[in-house]
Amino acid sequence: MKCKNHPKTDANGTCVECGNFFCDACLIQVKGKNHCKQCTADLLAKHEQKAKEANNPQIIIQQQQSAASPTANANKPRGSYFWLCFWLVVFFPVAIVYYLMRRWD
Ligand SMILES: [Zn+2]
Ligand SMILES: [Zn+2]
Repeated sequence: MKCKNHPKTDANGTCVECGNFFCDACLIQVKGKNHCKQCTADLLAKHEQKAKEANNPQIIIQQQQSAASPTANANKPRGSYFWLCFWLVVFFPVAIVYYLMRRWD
């Protein structure tokens, strides 16, 4: 059996992930098991993805919440509507008082 990457080199082992034959130069020992370079890169990418998820659990929780409840998006327009009412309530009396003061002068 020849190495998958090197057709002229005899394979010395198989990758436990993809099962292909590889030579010593292509195989990397990960936790005592042979992995080819491609599978090692895939494992590393998966590992980094897991590490990112572990570092940012809140982002995942937020994503799950927004995915689980479609009403979560309805809170956004309601929030801006609240602020619109808030500023109307604050500025309307101020505008009326200002208008009356101008008239009294
Ligand atoms: Zn592999
Ligand atoms: Zn090789």
